[in-house]
Amino acid sequence: MFDVIIVGAGVIGSSIARNLSKYKLSILVLEKENDVGDGASGANSAIIHSGYDPKPGTLKAEMNVKGNPLLYKACSELDVEALRIGSITLANNDEEIEVLKDLAKRSEENGVEYQLLDHDELLKIEPNITKQVKMGLLAPTAGIINPFELVVALMENAIDNGVELKLNQEVIDIKKNDDSFTVFTKDNNYQAKYIINASGVYSDKVSEMVNPKFFTVNPRRGEYFVLDHFDNNFIKHTLFNVPTSKGKGVLVSPTTHFNYLVGPSSDFINDKDSVATVKEILDEVKFNAKRLVDNVPYQYQIRVFSGVRAVSDNNDFIIEETSKRFINVAGIQSPGLASSQAIALKVEDIFIDSYQELFGEVGKNENFNPRRRPLIRLNKKTIEERRELIKKDPKLGRIICRCEQISEGEVLDVLNRSCPPHTIKGVKKRCRPGFGKCQGGFCEPLVMKILQDYYGLDKTEIDYGKKGTYITLCKTKNE
Ligand SMILES: Cc1cc2nc3c(=O)[nH]c(=O)nc-3n(C[C@H](O)[C@H](O)[C@H](O)COP(=O)(O)OP(=O)(O)OC[C@H]3O[C@@H](n4cnc5c(N)ncnc54)[C@H](O)[C@@H]3O)c2cc1C
Repeated sequence: MFDVIIVGAGVIGSSIARNLSKYKLSILVLEKENDVGDGASGANSAIIHSGYDPKPGTLKAEMNVKGNPLLYKACSELDVEALRIGSITLANNDEEIEVLKDLAKRSEENGVEYQLLDHDELLKIEPNITKQVKMGLLAPTAGIINPFELVVALMENAIDNGVELKLNQEVIDIKKNDDSFTVFTKDNNYQAKYIINASGVYSDKVSEMVNPKFFTVNPRRGEYFVLDHFDNNFIKHTLFNVPTSKGKGVLVSPTTHFNYLVGPSSDFINDKDSVATVKEILDEVKFNAKRLVDNVPYQYQIRVFSGVRAVSDNNDFIIEETSKRFINVAGIQSPGLASSQAIALKVEDIFIDSYQELFGEVGKNENFNPRRRPLIRLNKKTIEERRELIKKDPKLGRIICRCEQISEGEVLDVLNRSCPPHTIKGVKKRCRPGFGKCQGGFCEPLVMKILQDYYGLDKTEIDYGKKGTYITLCKTKNE
């Protein structure tokens, strides 16, 4: 019997698992996919929002404002890339200036630092923005993060502190017993005193396994362009359109590796799992991005992708003990990433209060360590530092990803951690081979070979990402 089962290993489930690992508790995380962070947490804008945008008084506003500094702290403990570059929301006409003034008022109500800048001030700090710009709202505490690294690091640290993770375990039913739950997956069942539902876009369905229906999660897709890194100074802040009823609007932003993101769109869809991209929608993204930057250099485009937001009916986060020992953490749409550490703290409080009332004092995990072993990050080292490292481990001298300069030794390092990858995409998320201009054209076969050797598998058994997304179907020639 586990003390608690967390359903879903996105940024929310992983953050909660890490927070609860500070206590003497047996914690199991069940994830339906073959890796952590493959839902919304791995397909978003990667912005650490400052918190000026959510409506004052909502849970979103409270969690975002509290979560912003907590996320920077978690990143420094876990060696996750995050840069506090600030965001600027741009207004190009009088109507948009009015919205910006309302946002300034919201910033004050939410207690978020901001500054209003005029046309000249804006062009001085961001020379490549549209010359149409009239006013901008600078939020200096906003930042950018590597979201893939974040989820892996949170879960790796949680596992190092005693949490158990089971992948490929889709929760299909939950039975409430007198003082426990039985959680059913296709091939197993598990017992727990508490359930924490952090299943993202499926959180309404998982809640309904135990509770009467009281909310719906509607999937709203966002589509993006990714540009290669061509100039680290092209845009220095995250640039936003003024928000509309559809959300925060399109942004143009550097990533932590100085690629550029352009997007997202915002459209309700019927299929919770659909991460397709549509030409007409991407054309609309381009049109809206023009209101931020006149000449986005799309000749550097290397990829398009999409992610699905989990939008609840009341458009706010749902964080509560809905029924005895069943905690819903649902409808966590944007700014869920930025709010993740505040959400985990709130869930920790709800859980510990409730648990102690029923089962007595929970002890502290004396061995809890908030840090994880830093990644190698060879491409950020000086030549001398690289030489020293390669002397100790020659595999660090074998570059397998030419675009991003990633070595075989770094792939082996992530394989030897407590939340290792099993797929090519899993390796890519952890140490970046395949993120560059060739999009895996050169490095994928090499990553595949490393995975084969490490796990003792046949080529045909290696998936690109989700189960069944194999790359080779059968052997050819003399193999
Ligand atoms: C387009 C887009 C842009 C965004 N931009 C930002 C941004 O810039 N900044 C920001 O702060 N936020 C942003 N967000 C929001 C943020 O990404 C989400 O709020 C956050 O990732 C939600 O995390 P989660 O763990 O709740 O959900 P998810 O990451 O979706 O995780 C849920 C997990 O549950 C698993 N699961 C589902 N059902 C089951 C089941 N039955 N059994 C077992 N496992 C199950 C899923 O496989 C998944 O891994 C954006 C979101 C999108 C889609």
